[in-house]
Amino acid sequence: MSDSSASPSQPNQENLPTGAAAPPLAFDKKNPFPAQVIRKVLLNGAGSKKEVYHLELSLKDSGLTYLPGDALGVFPLNRPKDLQAVMAAAGLNANSKVGEKTLVEALERDFDITTLSASVAKKYLAATENEALREAMEADGGAAFKEWCKGRQLIDLLEEYPFAGWTAEAFTSILRKLNPRLYSIASSVAHHDEEVHLTIAAVRYESFGRNREGVASCYVADELQEGDRVGIFFHTNKNFRLPESSDTPIIMVGPGTGIAPFRSFIEERVATGRNGDSWLVFGDQHAACDFLYGSEWEKYLAGGQLTRLDLAFSRDQEEKVYVQDRLRENGADVFAWLERGAHFYVCGDATYMAKDVHQALLGIIAEHGSMSEEEATEYVNQLKKSRRYQRDVY
Ligand SMILES: Cc1cc2nc3c(=O)[nH]c(=O)nc-3n(C[C@H](O)[C@H](O)[C@H](O)COP(=O)(O)OP(=O)(O)OC[C@H]3O[C@@H](n4cnc5c(N)ncnc54)[C@H](O)[C@@H]3O)c2cc1C
Repeated sequence: MSDSSASPSQPNQENLPTGAAAPPLAFDKKNPFPAQVIRKVLLNGAGSKKEVYHLELSLKDSGLTYLPGDALGVFPLNRPKDLQAVMAAAGLNANSKVGEKTLVEALERDFDITTLSASVAKKYLAATENEALREAMEADGGAAFKEWCKGRQLIDLLEEYPFAGWTAEAFTSILRKLNPRLYSIASSVAHHDEEVHLTIAAVRYESFGRNREGVASCYVADELQEGDRVGIFFHTNKNFRLPESSDTPIIMVGPGTGIAPFRSFIEERVATGRNGDSWLVFGDQHAACDFLYGSEWEKYLAGGQLTRLDLAFSRDQEEKVYVQDRLRENGADVFAWLERGAHFYVCGDATYMAKDVHQALLGIIAEHGSMSEEEATEYVNQLKKSRRYQRDVY
């Protein structure tokens, strides 16, 4: 997609500032700012199984700013191949009308055309009165259909239970709206004036014989090019903030894309001349190709702006090593830093990593603080209460 505010596929073009006479616009989630892509870089090297992009967006003329720890909302567009597949399966013409828009324009930016939710399936049944679908949805009190939906998407429903009678209006009326996705901000405005940077992992997987792609992450990975515009808004996160005092040490645990807010933290500390001790624990699969922003971290470490760096590359040796293992190995130091008042930050995967790190932290405190399980739990609760244990996990 090339940059042109006249292109119908540019998001929210009606919000673009149009000239001197235009009143100042306050940009927010309801009125997203069309930010221009300055740069997009694949962070992984050859041989990596990961696909993580560094995305730089311009905030010029937006009047917007943010703090380290905040997230950015991104409004994706549905991808051409998903649009084609859904319209073909519904037997609809791209140029049929939905209000003022053509169907393809409406589907591209307004509707969720991938998620297969129970409410969409119910509306689909009500509109199509498909008997086979009714039977499938009622079997087992609904449990079997719920299971069928797992790993499947709207396209599977359309193909498995086809309906020849759709109009564009009726079809779109059963769909949910397309939601923006949040991304932890990976930059500091103090370091990059009028810019915001993100670290986005492309979500791609296969299920039920179909290659599937995350809407927003693959829109960024495959469609969005330098010069294009994308609708954004800021999402304040008061629960993920640098300590008030510049002297307070920080421990940052951020494997994979969890690294993002810590790039923002360190840039902020460097740009504002704040020099409390900082310790980064990063992990991913391979050192050679997955050390996200590796050269930047090594530069900060060499320059003394980063006090300590511990790395866990899980697949570089026989036995898998993760960030929680590095924390345990260095448990005495972790505890000593906490006793010095360090803030402990965790960002990234909520399903496994954050839980494993939490367990490791409890174990470290119990072992090196000579505490019982209850005392260690109380210590962690106190950390949380005093906002010294903060998590940004998803
Ligand atoms: C506060 C916050 C901060 C975040 N920060 C970041 C960040 O810095 N970087 C980043 O990359 N992401 C981040 N995320 C996640 C991000 O918001 C999106 O959820 C992510 O990019 C996927 O969105 P998508 O539109 O590409 O995928 P979607 O189209 O939303 O698809 C994702 C869905 O696909 C399904 N799925 C995914 N993988 C599989 C699989 N292997 N098998 C079966 N089903 C699967 C799951 O149902 C999953 O919910 C953050 C989320 C939050 C809430």
